[in-house]
Amino acid sequence: MAYDNNQRISSLSVPIITSPGHRRGLGGVPFFQPALSPLGNQVLQRNPQRQPNPLFRSIPEGEISRVEFDRYLMDYFGVQDIHTGTQDEQEMSLTRHGRPAPSIPNWQSWNPGTSSADYAHIIRAIEAVAATFGAIPTIRTVVFFKMDYEPNAAGIGVARPDVGASFGGGKLTVFEAFSRSRAFPNARSDVSGSYPSAGVVLAPAAGETPGAPLPYQSRERSLRENIVHELGHAMAEDAHRADPDVFTEYNRAIGWVGGQLFDIGQQPVADAIRQGTSPPAQYHIRDLDWNNPQWIEQPMSRYAVAGGPGEDFAETIAAYIYANSVLQLRSPARYRFIMDHIDIWKTQMQALPPPVLRGDFPVIEEFRHMA
Ligand SMILES: [Zn+2]
Repeated sequence: MAYDNNQRISSLSVPIITSPGHRRGLGGVPFFQPALSPLGNQVLQRNPQRQPNPLFRSIPEGEISRVEFDRYLMDYFGVQDIHTGTQDEQEMSLTRHGRPAPSIPNWQSWNPGTSSADYAHIIRAIEAVAATFGAIPTIRTVVFFKMDYEPNAAGIGVARPDVGASFGGGKLTVFEAFSRSRAFPNARSDVSGSYPSAGVVLAPAAGETPGAPLPYQSRERSLRENIVHELGHAMAEDAHRADPDVFTEYNRAIGWVGGQLFDIGQQPVADAIRQGTSPPAQYHIRDLDWNNPQWIEQPMSRYAVAGGPGEDFAETIAAYIYANSVLQLRSPARYRFIMDHIDIWKTQMQALPPPVLRGDFPVIEEFRHMA
């Protein structure tokens, strides 16, 4: 989930992978033709629990192949390059200004395999964003690495095994930990302490102020939320292209001042931000206090507070998609910010394929760019 601006993507140049027999814009045949994919719609019909996504051709339950995954991402989501990262590539990506590339000891390659249900989960996460907003965040590249690294002063890459994925410069990087457990609270935090039943819940961090519970959820659901969080960063890049002031506006609307979050639901905070003065310290929301019922405007996760405005934005997008009603209850300012700006951001997102190409028609054309 980590995202930083320190040139992670650098000037790396990677080969563009094209699928044999299918090149975009040359009238290629989409992969998921019902006639050729007996696991497709029929399985969905037999499983009324899962509604077919109305936007795209259905993908099968269970495993899909890497070849299918790559084609789906290229055909439907406009991704140009999907590959398994190399050691050289990852070491280069850690290079900081004017320094030699760090080395990564005991580096290992990783991807979900030649066939995996996780490919389908990633696709469903992207579809969830597309279905919600009616446009697709701009993803140019998807790359798989075993884990994230951070260079130390000696030029050695130090493992960060709990980072599940990252996004920057149009590139989605997926690590082995991308299904790591996560959850949004199931309600607005309330001083009464009574909440909808949550079953098994994720334990609060040590020292964290209690609030609304975080229900334990399936690995698949966590995986999808982790991916959608990264797509929130992709949307941030689209939003920034559409409106260079978007994060200034976001910070003011949500209560971020100098990298610190304040409860924008408090009038003195709103007044201070409007007047350019320091908001009262008593309304400063610290990460261990993120779920405290005392806040009027309640963040959606500890990470949203600890990670700063960029992570808050990505968490807000993820919550809009997977915890929409809770987001409205906890944080009307965040919810409203998306509602008020999405049409501008969409001018820089990728257009959905025309409806005729999303059904069971064996024809697909190039994506159009909406802008
Ligand atoms: Zn992030």
